[in-house]
Amino acid sequence: MSCIFCRIVAGEIPAEVIASEADGVAFLDVQPLADGHVLVVPRAHVPTIEDLEPAAAVALFQIVRRLAGPVRQALGAAGTTIGINNGEAAGQTIPHLHVHIVPRWPNDGAGSVHTIFPRRTTRTLADVAAAIRKASAA
Ligand SMILES: [Zn+2]
Repeated sequence: MSCIFCRIVAGEIPAEVIASEADGVAFLDVQPLADGHVLVVPRAHVPTIEDLEPAAAVALFQIVRRLAGPVRQALGAAGTTIGINNGEAAGQTIPHLHVHIVPRWPNDGAGSVHTIFPRRTTRTLADVAAAIRKASAA
């Protein structure tokens, strides 16, 4: 088992575990973007959100939802950025799905999720919506 998150889930390597539940484990990122940067992972090794069983996705986000408040409170933060780098092209470096919870403060120097995109679009909204509707009906 070479996946570092699987090894943390299995307790084979140490981590600052915040919550260990039937469906997922939350622990501090060892290379935090800010104090209180938490990762929430499913116990199952799946690379992306679409590889996760529907019930496991619900369970994972229940953990995220439950921890968002305590993370904010514990760090005296004003908000949190919650996100998934879903796939290598999105910047995912460890191919075991993980949800980031990063505390945020006014003027902390970080932008919103919108700031990571250069806003290069080429298709109309209607065209894109039709394509996604067609793909999701398949
Ligand atoms: Zn894994």
